[in-house]
Amino acid sequence: MFHVKPRIVAVANQKGGVGKTTTAINLGAALAAYEHETLLVDLDPQANCTSGVGCKPDGGDPTSYQVLTGAGSIAQASRPTGFPHLRIVPSTADLAGAEVELVGMMGREFRLRDALDGDGIEGYRFILVDCPPSLGLLTVNALAAADALIVPIQCEYFALEGLSDLMQTVEQVRRFLNPSLALDGILLTMYDERTNLALQVAEEVRSVFGNDVFKTVVPRNVRLAEAPSFGRPIHAYALRSRGSQAYLQAGREYLERLGGAHGA
Ligand code: ATP
Ligand code: MG
Repeated sequence: MFHVKPRIVAVANQKGGVGKTTTAINLGAALAAYEHETLLVDLDPQANCTSGVGCKPDGGDPTSYQVLTGAGSIAQASRPTGFPHLRIVPSTADLAGAEVELVGMMGREFRLRDALDGDGIEGYRFILVDCPPSLGLLTVNALAAADALIVPIQCEYFALEGLSDLMQTVEQVRRFLNPSLALDGILLTMYDERTNLALQVAEEVRSVFGNDVFKTVVPRNVRLAEAPSFGRPIHAYALRSRGSQAYLQAGREYLERLGGAHGA
C-alpha cells in the first residue's frame, strides 16, 4: 500500500443548472465504484450534493460551514454515504451565511485549502468539491484549494457564454492564490443527440477547448434527474441507464487521463 495525496478537484461553473452537482455525485460515485476512496465536499448552500447521496445532517452536525469558519475539521465533518468508498462533507443552507462571514476573516480565500491540509484526508484518492453557481468566495475557496477543476457544460444555447468569466477567474486564482491550478477537463452534459443544436454546441466547445474536453459525453437521461430524489448516485439507482454508463465511462476516461499516480 502506498500513499498518495488526494487529487482535489473543484466541479465549477458559475452558470446555474449545468450539471455540476450531478457530475460531482456521479463522477465521484464512478471513482468510488472503481474502489478509489472518494470524498465529496458540498460547498453549495443548496445542499443538492448532500441530499443527492441520501445525507441529512441534523442541526448539530458539523458541515462544510463549520469547516470554512474554522469551527470543525474535515475529519469531524465527513461521514459515510452508505455507498462503498464514498464519503461526504455535507452542507446546509447555513453555508449561505459563511459567504458573508468569511469576508471579514483572515485568509478568507484559503479556508478550505487549510482545512484540506489537516487531519481527515489521509486515505482519499479524490476529493470532489461541488461549487455553487457563482464566482463568489465559496467557489474561490474551492479553486484555491484544488489541484484542478472540472467544468460541466450543458449542451444548450449560450453554453459558452460566461465561460470566459470562469476562465478569467481561473486566471486570477492562478495568479494570486493557486499557481498550479489545472484544468482536468470539460464535460459535456445533458447532450441530446436528436438535436442539431447539441451537436453544434459540442463541436464549438471542442473547437475552443480541444483535448481538454472529455471524449465521453453525458446524455440527457431522465434517470439522472430522478436518482437524487432517492438519495442515490445513478449507479445505485439505475445501473444500466445511459446516464449511469456515461458517468462510469467518464470516470474511466478521467483515470486514464490522469495516468501515473492517480491511474486505475
Ligand atoms: P446549480 O447551479 O443550481 O448548482 P448544477 O450545475 O449543480 O445546478 P445539477 O443540479 O446537476 O446542475 O442539474 C440541474 C438539473 O438537471 C437537475 O434537476 C438535474 O437532476 C438535472 N440533470 C443534470 N444532468 C442531467 C442529465 N444528464 N440528464 C437529465 N437531467 C439532468
Ligand atoms: Mg449544484
